[in-house]
Amino acid sequence: MNINHNFLRKFDGPLTRDLVLAPGQFGLGQVPKHSQPDATTTTVCGFCSTGCGLNVHLRQSEAINLTPATDYPVNLGMACPKGWEALTPLAAQDRVVTPLLRGSGIVRSIDWDSAMQVFTLRFKAIQDKWGPASIAFISTGQIVTEEMAFLGALAKFGMGMLHGDGNTRQCMATAATAYKQSFGFDAPPFSYADFEESDVIVLVGSNVCIAHPILWQRILQNKRKPRIVVIDPRATETALAATHHLPIRPKSDLTFFYGVANALIERQWLDQSFIARHTVNYPAFAEHVSEFSISRVSAETGLTREQFSSFIHLLAPGNRVSYWWTMGVNQSHEGTRLAQSIINLALMTGNIGKPGTGANSITGQCNAMGSRLFSNTSSLLGGRNFASAEDRSAVSKILGIEQTLIQTQPGYAYDQIMDAIDAGEIKGLWIIATNTAHSWIDQQAAKKTLSKLDFLVVQDLYHSTETAALAHMILPAAGWGEKEGTFINSERRIGLTKKVRKAPGQALSDFNIFRLVSQYWGCGQLFSSWSSPQAVFQILKRLSKDQPCDISGIEDYRHLDRLRGVQWPWADPHNDPPVHRSLFEDGHFYHSDRKARFLFDRPRPPVELCTREFPFILLTGRGSSAQWHTQTRTGKSAILRKLYPADPYFELHPEDARRYRINSGDLVTIESSRGKLNAAALVTSNLQPGQIFMPMHYATTNLLTCASFDPHSRQPSYKYSAVRIYPAANGPVAF
Ligand code: SF4
Repeated sequence: MNINHNFLRKFDGPLTRDLVLAPGQFGLGQVPKHSQPDATTTTVCGFCSTGCGLNVHLRQSEAINLTPATDYPVNLGMACPKGWEALTPLAAQDRVVTPLLRGSGIVRSIDWDSAMQVFTLRFKAIQDKWGPASIAFISTGQIVTEEMAFLGALAKFGMGMLHGDGNTRQCMATAATAYKQSFGFDAPPFSYADFEESDVIVLVGSNVCIAHPILWQRILQNKRKPRIVVIDPRATETALAATHHLPIRPKSDLTFFYGVANALIERQWLDQSFIARHTVNYPAFAEHVSEFSISRVSAETGLTREQFSSFIHLLAPGNRVSYWWTMGVNQSHEGTRLAQSIINLALMTGNIGKPGTGANSITGQCNAMGSRLFSNTSSLLGGRNFASAEDRSAVSKILGIEQTLIQTQPGYAYDQIMDAIDAGEIKGLWIIATNTAHSWIDQQAAKKTLSKLDFLVVQDLYHSTETAALAHMILPAAGWGEKEGTFINSERRIGLTKKVRKAPGQALSDFNIFRLVSQYWGCGQLFSSWSSPQAVFQILKRLSKDQPCDISGIEDYRHLDRLRGVQWPWADPHNDPPVHRSLFEDGHFYHSDRKARFLFDRPRPPVELCTREFPFILLTGRGSSAQWHTQTRTGKSAILRKLYPADPYFELHPEDARRYRINSGDLVTIESSRGKLNAAALVTSNLQPGQIFMPMHYATTNLLTCASFDPHSRQPSYKYSAVRIYPAANGPVAF
């Protein structure tokens, strides 16, 4: 193999030196005296999609600690516990420091040259025998946009893979699909300033207080004395702090929102002019929702007529109403239509394109939005369409590649990749920065599926993840803070994240691992201009040109850094954008007729219903603001670990606790038809009888979850599974 070995040595790029503040400009100034920094730089947090700015304090260019940036327009000097502890996981003992290869049950350390040779030979051998579609990749919303684009282009255009997806399928696919269908492009319309301009803030399936704590702080900065409505089966931390809580039955939300639409039509609380000028399909929608009377809504949702009517009253004309949703909507068997039932309310009342309004999906991971636009998975680079010859032609010209290298279909979604592995169609898998064996729905089946692979490569920071334990090869990756690039947050703000620490051992940035792979695979020539994240940012600008997500007006990283992030779109190279911008002020959407669509369907029951044998509905969700997903990073911080129970627990209602003779602290077995686990009981009236809740972060939670998917977005429905419970010591008992 013709490899220049100097090429390998050059890969660990320099620390950020050129984008630092002078000493003395330290944000909150909370730098401990014992570790005086000599400079500070601002970077964007690498956990959640809020996208907070963090001032990282440096000594000799290495991070020693951090404080929230007071001048960053997202967080205004605040950070949640994860942000404050963002540097800690980088120093964990279980970092992968060299490539690792498993063989005959033994894991051995190898050098990068050997790793790349094995990577290439094994994957190519599979492709030679079984065809190009026999290898695939699964990526993440945690790496920078430049890396996502590189991976997507490398895998599909360079390595000939047909199938690749990301863990954003688990959190944001529904919102992306709903926006694409309704607006003509995946375009969350809001800015965070809308939280502060609303009269009525409707939070649907969204526990903002712990999932996006800084956004809750933005809500609290609203001076209009807003009514805050939480629509959620559980009395979450957010519901307890809200002015109104509507504890609807799980998965009755589509009926609820159609009932709301019907009630607004009956009262004629509509923006008829907006409907006529800027939407299509309203008459059919109005007819559809006419079946959703208040009696039906009350019977199916469990809400009283008074609860329903008092909510409708809040939506009276003249109020600025903003709707916000997260996983309670997206992770549903009918999530896309549910998200669109919320979008429909905003459209019919003209609550879009004006301050304090919108149908607003808050994303999950720090770069979920980057993945949606640039990962080259469900959309062609730049939010384009694989099926469009025009789009394929544009991308081939921008990248200087043959159009025949670009597939005419997006390829399989995550669940379809898993099914194809199960069926023996996919035999090689490259997993980048995600923990499938923990987070995928119906975990036992997922692990069994992964174990069928002939060759599984995991590229991650840690060798201790559940997925790395199944891998044939582990590639050591640099983490947040050890590399540079851009993230796109929930409000479409592109922010810069910087290298403030050296990665340990031989770990490389994902970007440089992709460069290596391209060289060893023999397609390096295709990516000769993809030489650094900054160079790829210029390619992304060209890919976005004249798209709704046009960022061609941003000059470079320095420009982004100076402006403290820029929301897309921004195409004007001569002027700086305003700090906050929302979309659709002119009522123009992205379909060819510039009009939004009313889209709807009949509500359907969940795939798995409760029975006498499995009488409880299992709800899952975030446990605390100190935990992140599968805890591969947050679990490394002793401070964060103090903020949540170490062992699995679940919540159940006092009535059920009495019936089953369970007290708080008792060890209880929870069992579904797929698996079982033990967890400590927490008796609370925060949920309804017949429901239990368990945080998603524990390694065993997904043993219970039922694999069902929204048919449009193919997002898994994590929030409704049928289970039974019994004291762990006793075994199942009949009641
Ligand atoms: Fe902000 Fe999210 Fe980071 Fe917390 S995890 S500091 S809310 S970006």
